[in-house]
Amino acid sequence: MGRMIGIDLGTTNCCIAVLQDGDAQVINSRQGERTMPSVVAFSDEGTEIVGTTAQRQAVTNPNRTIFGVKRLIGRKFGDEEIETWSEHVPYEICAAPNGDAWVRTRDGDYSPQEISAVILQEIKAIAEDFLGEEIGEAVITVPAYFNDSQRQATKDAGTIAGLRVKNIVNEPTAAALGYGIDKNRDQTLAIFDLGGGTFDITILKTEGGVFEVLATHGDTFLGGDDFDRLLIEYLLDQFEGECGEDISDDPVALQRLKESAETAKRELSSTSTTSINLPFIATGPDGPLHLRVDVLERTKVERLCEQLIDRLEAPCKQALADAGIVASDLDQVLLVGGMTRMPAVQAKVEEIFGKITAKDVNPDEIVAVGAATQCAIMTGEVQDVVLLDVTPHSLGVRVTEGRMSRVIEKNTTIPTSEKKLFATTRDQQDHVEISVYQGEDELVDNNSYLGRFVLGDLPQAAAGKVNVEVTFLMDADGVLNVKAREVTTGREASVKIAPSSGLSKDEVRNLSNRRRKAS
Ligand code: ADP
Ligand code: MG
Repeated sequence: MGRMIGIDLGTTNCCIAVLQDGDAQVINSRQGERTMPSVVAFSDEGTEIVGTTAQRQAVTNPNRTIFGVKRLIGRKFGDEEIETWSEHVPYEICAAPNGDAWVRTRDGDYSPQEISAVILQEIKAIAEDFLGEEIGEAVITVPAYFNDSQRQATKDAGTIAGLRVKNIVNEPTAAALGYGIDKNRDQTLAIFDLGGGTFDITILKTEGGVFEVLATHGDTFLGGDDFDRLLIEYLLDQFEGECGEDISDDPVALQRLKESAETAKRELSSTSTTSINLPFIATGPDGPLHLRVDVLERTKVERLCEQLIDRLEAPCKQALADAGIVASDLDQVLLVGGMTRMPAVQAKVEEIFGKITAKDVNPDEIVAVGAATQCAIMTGEVQDVVLLDVTPHSLGVRVTEGRMSRVIEKNTTIPTSEKKLFATTRDQQDHVEISVYQGEDELVDNNSYLGRFVLGDLPQAAAGKVNVEVTFLMDADGVLNVKAREVTTGREASVKIAPSSGLSKDEVRNLSNRRRKAS
């Protein structure tokens, strides 16, 4: 069976934690770091490289270095998010035969589940080396807005890596557990999570010993990478101004610049000035050129990134509004994600919410720590806590003119059941087709299609005279059951929509076997 570990499988970094004698302990990466970049690369020799080593060769091996695969997992190629992301990355994203977004390299096409499995397998190996025993089970965290297929795909990635995923926990909930929030005291929390590529704000409630997500919002294209990019652009401009050389097309120079910019940004969270020194970054007409900034001030970087910081506000306001509360109703405001170490970000959080819960924790480890706590809950080492989930998107049916009629509103606590009454729109209409969608748009075409069924043999009558009651039932595992019932005759039809990751059970099993043999 083996031990159970908690895994924060982040968009940019992952973190592993395990409960040792009642205390959560973070397991270091092979480089001795507390987090590991979520990067997988394929080398010329065809071997897989994971983590820091993969990150270090990213710019010089752009087409075969896969980062941010969490953005693809469980999504369709046509998704708006995928389209935007594909503009950000040098590697190729392609459509799998089933329409899923996959990654294409010259080594072959890979599902995001497989790429994530490479990371998870490395995590499993690191934890096994550290603990000196086999790891069989894991708790993995995902963003609160992940839908069924994204959650299922994450589980499948674990299976492919040889892990039994015992639970998928929302990151904000794990963070609250990690912070040691007392679930038995009724309170309302905001979890502010600014990571490397994404920003999430979640409002949680603890009541009667359970955690409940009241609302979740964010910006999927706002994170530390954007801060780094602005700093890199500034440094490139400065360099060109001084030396007359444009090095923005030189991959080796860029890789070095990227690493120093990020390091400088991190340093400026604890000091007010730092310096950057990159000797021999380029060659000019008169010989080698060096990029040197003797004094880089924190205030300079803050000014460069002011607009990014301003963008944090609107999603917070929206989450409060969705939760039906105001900032002063919050008992705690928890910081999560490496970027919340930046003082200007903390100042913004304080400005938006009026407070921050002061706690001496590492914001980029706290989700993994919470996942490890959840492991202990699952194994019975710690008293039971029930985690409630919400539907991250609205669910509804297609009505006239391709409009979406919502039956379950987003942010509804599951399990849940909702009914809605519909009437026929044509005279002598003999059947209705129920097409189920999820999403927030008025038009179903802009939302995701989940499934359909037909209810036939309707009583013959004029338009609007026949009523069909549609019931949506979502169970705690996210399985959606949609039923339609003609009111006078009681005739029924229904469809069950189970979470699917895009890979069949056989495909997952085959991939898992192949990885086991390869390792
Ligand atoms: P993920 O997006 O995977 O959840 P993390 O929570 O680990 O990622 O956040 C990673 C981001 O945090 C990176 O952009 C990194 O540069 C940034 N970061 C880490 N430490 C600091 C620090 N001390 N100051 C500012 N930013 C930091
Ligand atoms: Mg994170």
